[in-house]
Amino acid sequence: ASGCSLLRDPRYNKGLAFTEGERDAHYLRGLLPPAIFNQELQEKRLMHNLRQYEVPLHRYMAMMDLQERNERLFYKLLINNVEELLPVVYTPTVGEACQKYGSIFRRPQGLYISLKEKGKILEVLKNWPEKSIQVIVVTDGERILGLGDLGCQGMGIPVGKLSLYTALGGVRPSSCLPITIDVGTNNEKLLNDEFYIGLKQKRATGQEYAELLEEFMHAVKQNYGEKVLIQFEDFANHNAFDLLEKYSSSHLVFNDDIQGTASVVLAGLLASLKLVGGTLVDHTFLFLGAGEAGTGIAELIALEISKQTKAPVEETRKKIWLVDSKVKMPGWFYSYFTFYSFFFPNLHNKLVLFQGLIVSSRLESLQQFKKPWAHEHEPVKSLLDAVKAIKPTVLIGSSGAGKTFTKEVVETMASLNEKPLILALSNPTSQSECTAEEAYTWSKGKAIFASGSPFDPVEYEGKLFVPGQANNAYIFPGFGLGLIISGAIRVRDEMLLAASEALAAQVSQENYDKGLIYPPFSNIRKISAHIAAKVAAKAYDLGLASHLPRPKDLVKYAESCMYSPGYRSYR
Ligand code: NAP
Ligand code: MN
Repeated sequence: ASGCSLLRDPRYNKGLAFTEGERDAHYLRGLLPPAIFNQELQEKRLMHNLRQYEVPLHRYMAMMDLQERNERLFYKLLINNVEELLPVVYTPTVGEACQKYGSIFRRPQGLYISLKEKGKILEVLKNWPEKSIQVIVVTDGERILGLGDLGCQGMGIPVGKLSLYTALGGVRPSSCLPITIDVGTNNEKLLNDEFYIGLKQKRATGQEYAELLEEFMHAVKQNYGEKVLIQFEDFANHNAFDLLEKYSSSHLVFNDDIQGTASVVLAGLLASLKLVGGTLVDHTFLFLGAGEAGTGIAELIALEISKQTKAPVEETRKKIWLVDSKVKMPGWFYSYFTFYSFFFPNLHNKLVLFQGLIVSSRLESLQQFKKPWAHEHEPVKSLLDAVKAIKPTVLIGSSGAGKTFTKEVVETMASLNEKPLILALSNPTSQSECTAEEAYTWSKGKAIFASGSPFDPVEYEGKLFVPGQANNAYIFPGFGLGLIISGAIRVRDEMLLAASEALAAQVSQENYDKGLIYPPFSNIRKISAHIAAKVAAKAYDLGLASHLPRPKDLVKYAESCMYSPGYRSYR
């Protein structure tokens, strides 16, 4: 091969790190300046350059350029600087990147499957240059982070998630495939944007949608076999629950928004028991938000309690309560409300008035996935009243609605509990139910707090409180690795429980002493290996693993399977 093609292929390119011998052997003489840098020096130089950019999106673009130029160096940077770069290649910056994807788009980084490809999806998959794929992350762009419908521009999400699969979970980059399914968008702004890269039509729904997805799922299995992991990402909840249910018995599917979130939050709860005492059964849980995250977490908590106590899950669900936003109001009232909110934007905040506890009298009108949570209770309208009525020990925000854990709510939690556990999971930061500072000060330092978006440590009355971050990136890379190394063919809830327990076990005494319920990200590759080992062990125990014989030491085996980004020598 010519030297030029080596330099242009991101998988092989090493830039100035090509040695004298390699430059001779591969026709690289003269194509590079004389200096030779090792990878460490390249990393140092690039980190220095990145830090010059003030605007996060510019850092993101610089990282994407690097990924397209020199893949190993990209992963070297990401692995060695994970705490600094995670917010760049993933949330929050990736959200902004998706919003502007049309104008920053340079080169396709994944597969686009639109309604135009109907009937030809198998051919489309065959156009992808890599033949052996282990993980697919797929979105239809309808609910990108907390940003809503971004249509085809949602591609940034599968791309970002898969780079975390490699950096944090050690899955080889060549076996990762990002896919965006484009069935249109209902985002008017995008539909009117001349630079929009997707189909300019309203979203297909119903049968048309289901048929495209069915063809896709079928084609994936036909092309890559039964062991390819398909991770659904950022689908709106009306499709997410259905897809997961429909395909979990025929494919290896995982929904990170439902299951990954559930697993990472359960891990935090298990770890927090070290700080608050008791076991899971001793607690009462109240959620604000009953969507993918809320009901997913609730169900996994119920399963874990059921596992610990041997009580049926129908029973263990009863200590878990959820509040959503839909207290039915008449259509005419809603029209008035919307009309007046236009003139009085503050009225919008009054939406709080329309929160409601999910109770049995609402059963008829509830979406399917909320029904298991409709317990016997009189109707309760506001979160504050629900806190007073239910007296939870754990309050979890999964609503996407910011500033909803008010001072009164937090104070009530603190008056009810010696150490109230408060999780404000909504992203991005502006949507957090409360800030870390609010949780600590309003509870007078009593709260144990973790959040979806990162918050800085808070000093309160001379004591430093370090909030934990319930980031899904703790779980899914290790979880996926565990499925891959065992050759699992189905995902089971027991595997999610195993992942939670493995993550909770990685929190050290030193972390607890700071009030942390999650371990620091700097150890994430080791954490992922432990999670992978436990997930794989579960797959073997359940008879769902196809890689035989079972390795003796699964942690060591997981570590030995992990991709490492050091350069290879081409002599
Ligand atoms: P979703 O499926 O759309 O669910 C949102 C839920 O919140 C719905 O039940 C909705 O009520 C309810 N809701 C919205 N506004 C409300 C309000 N003002 N008061 C009470 N309830 C309200 O969304 P999701 O996927 O679950 O995500 C929710 C949030 O969690 C997002 O901000 C996301 O970023 C965050 N999240 C965090 C993590 C993490 O920290 N690791 C992981 C996943 C998601 P209705 O059902 O009545 O519409
Ligand atoms: Mn997601």
